[in-house]
Amino acid sequence: MPDDKQLTIEIANRIYGEGGLVTNLNGAVNDEIAIFAAEMEKELRGLRRAGMTDNAIRQLLLDDIEAGGGRFFKPFRNAIVAQLNTGIAEAAEIGKNTFLESEGVDTSRWKWGVTQSKSGPCPDCAPRAGRVETMDVWETIGTPRSGFSVCRENCLCRLDPAGIDTPDKVIIEE
Ligand SMILES: [Zn+2]
Repeated sequence: MPDDKQLTIEIANRIYGEGGLVTNLNGAVNDEIAIFAAEMEKELRGLRRAGMTDNAIRQLLLDDIEAGGGRFFKPFRNAIVAQLNTGIAEAAEIGKNTFLESEGVDTSRWKWGVTQSKSGPCPDCAPRAGRVETMDVWETIGTPRSGFSVCRENCLCRLDPAGIDTPDKVIIEE
């Protein structure tokens, strides 16, 4: 058994420590805000040019946000949700990998585990289910959420050490 205390400290460092997951997520969310702000400025200029009054613009934006995010707010909403998905998946990876390393598990070869919803398997990830490669190879052809796949940062796939028994495919309820 690994030292539980040491393991807890190591996981906390990788998540909250300098250069860890939370710092990265903060940066990513700030980037999304900057993109959204620039996009909104452009939209507002366009609406004013089209002759809309400030009151009409205000109402348009209120309706848009009330609809759960329409043309203006939806891209921002989706971007933030994608960052949350990435963060949750990465936190799970950090916890799992830190534990496996501390157990002395062989990490020379890694198996792709597909996680997909019932309705939409990602066509890029699906054929990788159960494939085993070294981390060098995976990093060359694309790890989960690296952007190689059409599911991009919404990808929920995993790389697990090949020596441990994990499912090739997990289908999640929606
Ligand atoms: Zn995927």
